[in-house]
Amino acid sequence: MHATEKTLVLKVGRFREADCWLKLLTPTRGVFNAFAFGGSRSRRRFVGCLDPLSHVLFTIGTNKSGTYTVLEEGSLLHNFPGLRADPAKTGLAVNCSKFIEAVEIDPSDAKPAYELLLETLHMLEEGGGSSDFVPWLFRAKLAFELGFRPDFLTCGVCGESVAFRSGYQFGVEKGHVACHTCLSGGKPLEGLARPISTGVLRALHWIQHSQPADWAKVVMDSEVRRQSSQFVELFVAYHLGLSWDNGMYKKV
Ligand SMILES: [Zn+2]
Repeated sequence: MHATEKTLVLKVGRFREADCWLKLLTPTRGVFNAFAFGGSRSRRRFVGCLDPLSHVLFTIGTNKSGTYTVLEEGSLLHNFPGLRADPAKTGLAVNCSKFIEAVEIDPSDAKPAYELLLETLHMLEEGGGSSDFVPWLFRAKLAFELGFRPDFLTCGVCGESVAFRSGYQFGVEKGHVACHTCLSGGKPLEGLARPISTGVLRALHWIQHSQPADWAKVVMDSEVRRQSSQFVELFVAYHLGLSWDNGMYKKV
């Protein structure tokens, strides 16, 4: 069985003299490993395809007994030269790709994860994106794309729209907002809850509906940014079980 599929290369390793293994992400398979036998020697079958963060059309098959995945050939779609030339942007791209790996994307979640990473790479390539925003916006957006989609602008208890008032809390476990009226009615939120400002709720709503291209020109009040990113880390740790620690994602 052969299939040709658009693929993002997450990682490349070499073994023996000329063989490579790759960690890949595609819109149908999610994250998986494959071998490119003779890959580092072949000038013809894999020209420019065996680098991390490349976008490649690979012909994918299996070995004879079907036990592992083999790449037969590839044609490079984009290798993001602008991103590669800038160490800061490369760092941001690697941070996003490590997060995808840590989440262990399975086939049912593969399409949004693939599209999100691809769009993020294009945004970085076109000169956008800063370290103040990209890593945590990416984590937030991926969590939302994987189906954790709170309604940040409506009280989950009474259904009132969020207004410019204070006293809101967010219940992380159930994933909903509770307003001052509902909270003062003597019904506290169950489980992990955090006070949250209207500005942060609006920022989270914006992130949920944003595209990576929008992140290039985002402006946020520094306090809203700080609180929103803290919220995202808490949300991601709770729902995806991951936190960023010392240059890698750890299961929490
Ligand atoms: Zn309410």
